[in-house]
Amino acid sequence: KTTAATKPNPPATPAYVHKTVYVPVDRSDEVQAARLRLPILAEEQQVMELINEHPIVIVAGETGSGKTTQLPQFLYEAGYAQHKMIGITEPRRVAAIAMSKRVAHEMNLPSSEVSYLIRFEGNVTPATRIKFMTDGVLLKEIETDFLLSKYSVIVLDEAHERSVYTDILVGLLSRIVPLRQKRSTPLKLIIMSATLRVSDFTENTRLFKTPPPLIKVEARQFPVTVHFQKRTPDDYVAEAYRKTLKIHSQLPEGGILIFVTGQQEVNQLVRKLRRTFPYKPDKEAKQQPETKQPAVELEQQFELKRVMRNLRKSKKKFLAQISLPSINLDDYKLPGDDTEADMHSDLEGDPEDDLDVGDDDDELQLDDDQQLSAPGTKQPLWVLPLYSLLSSEQQNRIFEPIPEGCRLCVVSTNVAETSLTIPHIKYVVDSGRQKTRLYDKLTGVSAFVVTYTSKASADQRAGRAGRVSAGHCYRLYSSAVYNDLFPEFSQPDIQQKPVDDLMLQMRCMGIDRVLHFPFPSPPDALQLQAAEQRLSVLGALEATAKNSTSSATDKEKELPPAVTQLGRVISRFPVAPRYGKMLALSNQFELLPYTVCLVAALSVQELLVETGVQRDEDVAPASNNFHKMRLSWANHGQYQLLGDPMVLLRAVGAAEYAHSQHKLDSFCASNGLRSKAIGEVRKLRVQLTNEINLNVSNVESLCVDPQLKPPTESQARLLRQILLAGMGDQVARKVPLDEISDKDERRRLKYAYNCADMEEPAFLHVSSVLKQAKPEWIVYQEAYELQQGDSSKMFIRGITAIEPEWLLVYVPQLCNIRQVKEEPAPRYNAAKGNIYCHVDATFGKAGWELPLGEI
Ligand code: ADP
Ligand code: MG
Repeated sequence: KTTAATKPNPPATPAYVHKTVYVPVDRSDEVQAARLRLPILAEEQQVMELINEHPIVIVAGETGSGKTTQLPQFLYEAGYAQHKMIGITEPRRVAAIAMSKRVAHEMNLPSSEVSYLIRFEGNVTPATRIKFMTDGVLLKEIETDFLLSKYSVIVLDEAHERSVYTDILVGLLSRIVPLRQKRSTPLKLIIMSATLRVSDFTENTRLFKTPPPLIKVEARQFPVTVHFQKRTPDDYVAEAYRKTLKIHSQLPEGGILIFVTGQQEVNQLVRKLRRTFPYKPDKEAKQQPETKQPAVELEQQFELKRVMRNLRKSKKKFLAQISLPSINLDDYKLPGDDTEADMHSDLEGDPEDDLDVGDDDDELQLDDDQQLSAPGTKQPLWVLPLYSLLSSEQQNRIFEPIPEGCRLCVVSTNVAETSLTIPHIKYVVDSGRQKTRLYDKLTGVSAFVVTYTSKASADQRAGRAGRVSAGHCYRLYSSAVYNDLFPEFSQPDIQQKPVDDLMLQMRCMGIDRVLHFPFPSPPDALQLQAAEQRLSVLGALEATAKNSTSSATDKEKELPPAVTQLGRVISRFPVAPRYGKMLALSNQFELLPYTVCLVAALSVQELLVETGVQRDEDVAPASNNFHKMRLSWANHGQYQLLGDPMVLLRAVGAAEYAHSQHKLDSFCASNGLRSKAIGEVRKLRVQLTNEINLNVSNVESLCVDPQLKPPTESQARLLRQILLAGMGDQVARKVPLDEISDKDERRRLKYAYNCADMEEPAFLHVSSVLKQAKPEWIVYQEAYELQQGDSSKMFIRGITAIEPEWLLVYVPQLCNIRQVKEEPAPRYNAAKGNIYCHVDATFGKAGWELPLGEI
């Protein structure tokens, strides 16, 4: 009778313990051999045991140890993809695409099963088992499916990068994982990092009550000798060029990887290096007599002059070899040069001129087998650019075989720091800089600045040289600069960027107190407040009381302003909230196709470029004619006031007339558009249109008309109002020049505008098509600061003219109504059930007088 009650239950297996199965994968021998060389393969057993037994695991391992490509395969083989998907997030789109392709290739599976999804594109199908995506994509998915019920594992890759979305995902998943455990459909969370600095994840008890176990993948890293410079030159691009020149002409075999800060620098350096060490395929190269070089390029001459100058400087005498490629110094004797002996004697003059003497005390010590090869070299250099805006095909070239007889040289932004491992690298040239977009957390104004990277980044970059054999890293800065000016780590993005879209997204997920969210590193309270404020101005959150008298503790207890109906609509669109609002307002007068196009164009990075892209060339020459063309596009009378957005509409519309990719590429090249961006705009238009068809009920099924006709005059006017509604906090007014008596000051401020909430005037960007018209009132898309010598200057771009009487209607939150006018008498609009009256009002902090307006 009692047996059932007294018999002890067998110990329950915790829900998160995985019952291991084995799902075979059919790999080619070649792939299998390559895999076996990866350090993580040796740890498969340990890594998987840990994952099987714990709900949350942190995996740390050097870049290139095989985390991203192998871990998803381990999970697949262990059966995690049998019923649900394995999801892997990447902060960079480049990585999501490249890694999904690589893993599909290694596993011998089609892209319908190992797929990717990024904001503009993807190849996910119902058959997808392994899904690579950007972290932003997964965050959007959580909004509609909080428990992530389609997944059995989520891998957050590159967590050390501390991207905003990955940080939020860590916080959200710290709550989702226990919820899934309760429901007995466990979800595994794996946080992967290229550094061991994971204390923000492990030691944060708000995040995880018990710290998750950490497994370190021991990478087979060869020693990398780090060389500092004695001095830290400002022109690090020129210095990188010189250093590469020397490495290539003096040091043995091995690829060179150069880190600079941005696309322009990459292109500049690639052009220079290609000209100096041209690669001529096959016959052409062989036909050229070895000794007779083509005309010496400017750079070489420049380089030569510099060397000569240095030669003359010092008086000490000793003989040394000059190792410039393909230059016979005797042919280029400068007037006044003395004997050859004298020339050589002066070599000591500039220590930085020799590869190994410019370095710190621990100068480059060449191993015995690393004796300098013959001075000068005619060996061609296979120079490839790498940055995130480059097309995927061109990005992929870093993995393709190097033409015979060439040395590989990749010039990259920090994309190559941890997300992509380039094979064959032995030498790293590190500028020590990176380009960051710094935001003023409160105003949202941004500035692109070149700063020193962190010590952690510099060490990552150096590590790239030790993948194949012992390597060398040449740092183009001194050890003093490294020690004193490099921060240990870079600050997490979330503490540096405005968090408006995040705030709205989290609020829509029902997270009311964003301040109390378990962020790995919380953003500061002021920053969150500013985001809340901007969202209220937008109408996405209920308006906050302007002069709240409640005390700080009361405020703490108060619920934050609620999300409005408009806010919910806005958050559905995968674009910034201000663009979401523009879409939400456009469901009238057949405006939607235009707003969709405009929002897509505004959301895509750098649609218009000042450098045309030539076919078969990844590095393009600069061109200045595009500006004239853009002026003519925007200058059709009635459109003029729409300004820069009109240029975007035209550009997209016109580009879509090109029927083939080939025609599109040449159209883009001759009109200064980036064809990859046009492709992204097209995809985003389709995506936004689908979103509208799904979510907005009273829209007649909208379809994308690629070849959008220009808007009518009244539509153009409405578009200006819609732009204002989205960017009501970015209103500016021309500086009244006739009130300035000083002539110089008048000239200085010719293109200056006062922005509603900034002290300093901002200047119209040269690219603006409204620069000549200079309308009195405008909205701008972006304000940013540029460093000019010791001072800095504020610029605004993306300009549209507005009428001041619109402000009361579209940005009422920023208007101060002083008085309701008796005259003209208020009137009642029966259709809308509203009473309209005239008010006397001002706008913004500056208190600009508004014309008599009706509200
Ligand atoms: P981790 O994530 O630990 O940094 P990865 O898994 O990204 O390491 O890389 C493992 C190895 O796979 C590297 O040696 C890299 O060069 C190689 N690899 C990655 N993608 C490709 C590709 N498309 N072609 C050839 N090799 C690749
Ligand atoms: Mg990786």
